[in-house]
Amino acid sequence: MGDMHAVRNIVILTGAGISAESGLKTFRAEDGLWEEHRVEDVCTPQAFARDPDLVQRFYDMRRAAALAAEPNAAHEALATLDAEWPGELLIVTQNIDDLHERAGARRVLHMHGEVLSAWCTGCDMRHRWEGALLGDPPCPACGEASLRPDIVWFGEMPYEMDRIFAALAGADLFVSIGTSGAVYPAAGFVQEAATRGAATLELNLERSLGSRMFDETRLGPASELVPRWVAEVLA
Ligand SMILES: [Zn+2]
Repeated sequence: MGDMHAVRNIVILTGAGISAESGLKTFRAEDGLWEEHRVEDVCTPQAFARDPDLVQRFYDMRRAAALAAEPNAAHEALATLDAEWPGELLIVTQNIDDLHERAGARRVLHMHGEVLSAWCTGCDMRHRWEGALLGDPPCPACGEASLRPDIVWFGEMPYEMDRIFAALAGADLFVSIGTSGAVYPAAGFVQEAATRGAATLELNLERSLGSRMFDETRLGPASELVPRWVAEVLA
């Protein structure tokens, strides 16, 4: 990836492809289904208002699957990069699992929320949550039965966009890993970074809709491409 000596600040975007190799499925853009559910039935505020039990049961299953999954070589490599990279680094993930953190990464931002977090719409507190939300358990802070998955649903604003765009503005290198480039605003990050002068690299299983926006695209499984790339960066 060009001259790594000129690179100090790195922003990495990770998506479904990196969790898929740990066995976690996400919704398929081709048919709009996620574990046989239409996304509009389980991933919108309207769906939650209409049938909260269906949505809670769906995320209870996603939470259990996340807890049972293990980080793979791509997560491990990014954790190594996080530990050893002396410059600025931000791993922006679209994934709702905690596999980056369990691999040891610390500079992680969950722009679409976290399945292991419950958000109380009564008192606005967030709580680490490993069990079920079906059955309306009380909020540990206020006691109200107002907990929902701490997930950014379709039609809701992704978390910490100001911080993400500030990082992109200061990035020397933007790397997109395992994401289709189909869902905005994340799909626009490469343009933002390139406009601000960053080099751009895509690591993906197949060419994405946004591939032509990148300086370089490498195709293959994240568990192979990411460790190789991190070794180059840290060499
Ligand atoms: Zn509360």
